[in-house]
Amino acid sequence: MDSQEFRAAAATTTDDIVNYFDNLGSRDVVSSVRPGYLRTLLPGEAPQEGEPWEDIHKDIEAKIMPGITHWSHPNFHAFFPCATSYPSILADLYSSALSGACFNWICSPAVTELETIVLDWLAKMLGLPACYLSTGPTRGGGVIQGSASEAVLTAMVAARDKYLRETTKIPIRSSELSDEDAEALAIKRSRMVALATTATHSSARKAALILGVRFKAIPVRAEDGYALTKPVLAAALAECRAKGLEPFFLVATLGTTDTCAVDDFAGISAALEEDPDAALAESESGIAKGEIWVHVDAAYAGAALVCPEVQEATGLAGPLARFHSFDVNMHKWLLVNFDASCLYVRDRDWLVQALSVNQAVYGKKPLVDADGNDVPDYREWQIPLGRRFRSLKIWFVLRSYGVRALQAYIRRTMRLGEEFAGWVKGRPDLFEVLTGPSFALTVFRMAERSQGQSLEERNALTKALYERVNATGKLWLTSTELDGKLAIRLMTAVRTTERAHVKAAFKTLVEVATEVIRE
Ligand code: PLP
Repeated sequence: MDSQEFRAAAATTTDDIVNYFDNLGSRDVVSSVRPGYLRTLLPGEAPQEGEPWEDIHKDIEAKIMPGITHWSHPNFHAFFPCATSYPSILADLYSSALSGACFNWICSPAVTELETIVLDWLAKMLGLPACYLSTGPTRGGGVIQGSASEAVLTAMVAARDKYLRETTKIPIRSSELSDEDAEALAIKRSRMVALATTATHSSARKAALILGVRFKAIPVRAEDGYALTKPVLAAALAECRAKGLEPFFLVATLGTTDTCAVDDFAGISAALEEDPDAALAESESGIAKGEIWVHVDAAYAGAALVCPEVQEATGLAGPLARFHSFDVNMHKWLLVNFDASCLYVRDRDWLVQALSVNQAVYGKKPLVDADGNDVPDYREWQIPLGRRFRSLKIWFVLRSYGVRALQAYIRRTMRLGEEFAGWVKGRPDLFEVLTGPSFALTVFRMAERSQGQSLEERNALTKALYERVNATGKLWLTSTELDGKLAIRLMTAVRTTERAHVKAAFKTLVEVATEVIRE
């Protein structure tokens, strides 16, 4: 494809994209193809000779679109949203054109510097404590990761090494450990346990699996709104220590996946400060107490912190100044295309000490800017080496919308959630709200039909409602299970969703629920 052909093809692509968004509501939300549909449509081998753009272009609508589930559809109420916006799409075009494996400053100074600047902007917008700024007092800062799963894994690696450094005298990064040290390290590592809750996203368990450390999910309770509380954490810590285990990492969540619960950050902070067994460990070993690293997973709901009233309500800022890392996916609820997971740490050296393997090869001292701040070497803050120019789309989105429009979008979609929950509560003959509305998410199930109705019968009714509504293809919901109760999640945070769409979704739910009961 030469320049002229690209210019023409890009024009048709732009038209397609605009038409796609303008007419999105007329498509079914969920793809209805069967597994393997594409294999029957495409040849088994790549073409020997290049094909004209016109042929390739035709196949987008004919072969690809049928297999697309539309995450920006106004009737997409499943999972959490996956954002997109025109400014973000434009930035991705530039990023593709400027393609490079920009792992350090000289590989493209703008890539590193823009990332530092926009992540500082975002930290300020979200009201994060100053220690998470690149110029903050503790040498903290943010880095863009591909996903919240990658972020929790990265934080857990750093936490593991920090804990080992604090609680042993073993030179853990040495390639020539004595047999004695190697054995002591193996024993120590076998006792270390990463903590989360039964409501934490599965990425925490996966990170522990990858790192080969123990994992414990602390059960959360309906009476606590499925959030982690101080007494529950204190009991879990005591239980670990009674078994000779050493907790070194905890995932606290702002907006759990099932119900958007918010863990009690102040309670967590207090439980860790008052943890008597950790102090005991310190006096017994004569080595400094190993801190439990707290990672705040705010993958979805963290976006709502752009609103000052949410910062206030969650009470995160105070405890976060004592925690260690925080992650939010701008690609969920902040209009930036997938992928833009923004991971912040209170001290960048925690990441560098765990992840740097390049010093011998590249052997450079950190670069310092005119103000004396060292320039991040982002390859040391992440698992891969190479990195795309992802900060560009954050920059385009923040500049195109401005903070006010982002706040308005978050508030508007949360209000839609409140309205929806109000309508559901207004039909106690049909539905029961189990949690929410919380951050534009309501979790509900079918109402009890008769006294003494069994859990199985009620779950069966909820399942019938859920499956029939989804089978219409007109809207998409996801389900969850809370203490054995099957429940339906309805989220109203997609950019294109308006009140009329939520109202229509509610109407469909009422009709189908009535039909299910009648039968
Ligand atoms: N954490 C929470 C609370 C989530 O809801 C999700 C996904 O929805 C994740 C983590 C994982 O996100 P990612 O797909 O970016 O790994």
